[in-house]
Amino acid sequence: MSGAVAASALLGVYRQPDITFVSGAGSWLVDEEGRSYLDFTSGIGTNALGFDSPVIRAALLEALDSGLIHTSNLFRTHPGERLARALVEASFPGRVFFCNSGAEAGEAAFKLSRRWAREVGGPGKHEIVAFRGGFHGRLFGTLAATDRPAYQEPFRPLLPGVHIVDLQGPGEVDRVVSSERTAALVVEPVQGEGGVRPVPAATLRALRELCDERRVALVFDEVQCGLGRTGRLFAYEHAGVRPDLLTLAKPLAGGLPMGAVVVGDEVAGAVRPGDHATTFGGGPLVASVALAVVEAVARPGFLAEVRRKGREVERRLRSLAREHAAVVEVRGLGLMWGLELRADAGTVVEAARERGLLLVGAGPGVVRILPPLTVTDEELAHGLDVVQEVLP
Ligand SMILES: *Cc1c(COP(=O)(O)O)cnc(C)c1O
Repeated sequence: MSGAVAASALLGVYRQPDITFVSGAGSWLVDEEGRSYLDFTSGIGTNALGFDSPVIRAALLEALDSGLIHTSNLFRTHPGERLARALVEASFPGRVFFCNSGAEAGEAAFKLSRRWAREVGGPGKHEIVAFRGGFHGRLFGTLAATDRPAYQEPFRPLLPGVHIVDLQGPGEVDRVVSSERTAALVVEPVQGEGGVRPVPAATLRALRELCDERRVALVFDEVQCGLGRTGRLFAYEHAGVRPDLLTLAKPLAGGLPMGAVVVGDEVAGAVRPGDHATTFGGGPLVASVALAVVEAVARPGFLAEVRRKGREVERRLRSLAREHAAVVEVRGLGLMWGLELRADAGTVVEAARERGLLLVGAGPGVVRILPPLTVTDEELAHGLDVVQEVLP
């Protein structure tokens, strides 16, 4: 049918089931046969406010009224500046660079860290340290920092000077992070693609101390775990540790492509006009929508609801783990959960899809649950019933 013809012209980089979605509302997607699916993927954590959100619709219409979709960064516009102000006020003193994806935010964070590190430590201070199991994107810098040999092998040589170390073994971090050579250390406070692994607060605090001691820029990649997903606006708030640079993307503009780096004052002070740029970054349309998303998600009542719903998910998943021998571990925070299985995650994802529930894997053995943050109690209960049914 039409779906198959269209798919045949797409480059074969995605493994897609033979379902074509034509509409969506709230937590639900509808395919071209009229079948509804409860979506616990949210576009991999992107559709934080669900489909057909009135918040996003209103922001889009208002932004369209101005007639401005794009002006380029040759000129100032209000929405991007307002959004930057809102992000800085919600995070830490600094400046914001806008781009168009999570990987671009990572690349920017690496470049800006190097810019600063050279100034404080000389030309040898340019290395980047990342962690085992981490995921930062598929562009050359971020790919080098992404611990997945299968993603890296076909594309070598990678960006040199990037080290992947073990988070659990503090000794290794201590050996590799150097005052003379290291510019940045990048970590996801909750690893997403790597299997939904919250990094212990004590580890994040130890990394903060190490970075202070050796003058290394600490980069938190909150592309997936940021902006309300864990029940706090930023996942680092759970640990009470601030980074020097913070990367954001997936849910930032509610499904429109947008990334951002919040750059703390010290690093921002080393940046000069011309150091980095992107044509589309922070355009008025996406920034207007993102401002509406950030304002909606940052409301204390909204975040309290995410935490309350998250506690219910945790309770259900833990009881499920007790009943099913196939569940090795339940991990997560807020509305970001992973079920590590003794079985193949792909089979479970497929079985759930056949029953009308969309899930996403995180590596071969982990099923990931990422509902829209606006998911209702009834939807959560129904989705978790389906998860229970399909577990081996
Ligand atoms: C998805 C993701 C990225 C990459 O984002 P893209 O928009 O796909 O480039 C980077 N970091 C983390 C933690 C992610 O989950």
